[in-house]
Amino acid sequence: MVTALVSGAARLRSVPGLAVREHEPLARHTRFSIGGPARIYAEASTPDALRQALAAAAQSGLAVNVIGGGSNLIVSDSGFDGLVLRYTASRIHQPEPGLLQAEAGADLQALVDRSIDLGLANLHTMTGIPGTVGGAVYGNAGAYGHSVSETLASATFLDAGTIRTFDNAACQFTYRESIFKRRKDWIILCATFRLPSGDAAALRATADGILTTRNQKYPPEMKCAGSIFKNLILAELPATVQTRVPPSVIREGKVPSAWFLEQVGAKGLRRGAIEVASYHANLLYNTGTGSSEDLRALITELKQRVFNDFSLVLEEEVQYVG
Ligand SMILES: Cc1cc2nc3c(=O)[nH]c(=O)nc-3n(C[C@H](O)[C@H](O)[C@H](O)COP(=O)(O)OP(=O)(O)OC[C@H]3O[C@@H](n4cnc5c(N)ncnc54)[C@H](O)[C@@H]3O)c2cc1C
Repeated sequence: MVTALVSGAARLRSVPGLAVREHEPLARHTRFSIGGPARIYAEASTPDALRQALAAAAQSGLAVNVIGGGSNLIVSDSGFDGLVLRYTASRIHQPEPGLLQAEAGADLQALVDRSIDLGLANLHTMTGIPGTVGGAVYGNAGAYGHSVSETLASATFLDAGTIRTFDNAACQFTYRESIFKRRKDWIILCATFRLPSGDAAALRATADGILTTRNQKYPPEMKCAGSIFKNLILAELPATVQTRVPPSVIREGKVPSAWFLEQVGAKGLRRGAIEVASYHANLLYNTGTGSSEDLRALITELKQRVFNDFSLVLEEEVQYVG
């Protein structure tokens, strides 16, 4: 393994367009500010650099983990003993009226802002969702009634050195899911969105309102990943559970995980420096120098409490590394 890492690092350093660092603390790259070192960390600025980085990793037998903005990641305290790869290309452009294309490393907010400036609707409700376009496509991100799946026309990705493009149907989007979650070896390069016209001033006003609300719930300096667990689809819950859910908490056919967590006393629970927000039972945050170990232990405890009371297994929306 040590030889593989040494030869891997040397191979990676020779790839043009690839910035390579060793023993890079991943806490620097996660919104939780948690995570031990990546043995090798590399940022690829072009598809070709990405392709060559993957080839070098494969030749050296290195495990690879792709990250975006780190806003939905829980990285182990011991880090990742392989290559952590980030694609940084971030161009956003309009190939034709009604279409907007963004490279995967672009900030989602930059795409949202551009769409509003161009008077294009339906990305505007995603204002304030942290992270990159690649991460948003991977997890079918969404908020306030719209998600990536509604507007994405196509996604282009790297599959074993070959660039391929999928239309919306082929991406197999469902709630916070896409085919890319099941094919972690595919790396999203860019995404094209088909957007209806809207009034730029009205879209901006709606987006500003959403951002104000979001900043109260998730202060920009809060070390967290947004919601830890996915919400639950009412129709998929056992009848015994459905009857316990008050209709007032159901939104768009879903029951917030926060409701279940609240019933089992999650709010304000603490493990080390990790705390469940007092106002939102599905929001865990790092109050300072929290560890991944404590974070995972608290998540396990919350899942156990909900299981004991409702016989339900909550599913994490966050993604684990290491
Ligand atoms: C304060 C806060 C609020 C949030 N609110 C919301 C919300 O309202 N709605 C919502 O949906 N999410 C929300 N999130 C979660 C998070 O913002 C999204 O999941 C976001 O889309 C993750 O993007 P990222 O670039 O940070 O991905 P990362 O966290 O870096 O990675 C997440 C996953 O995406 C994969 N990935 C990233 N880039 C690529 C790529 N190019 N190719 C293939 N796979 C890739 C990674 O392998 C990883 O498994 C919130 C998070 C925070 C911190």
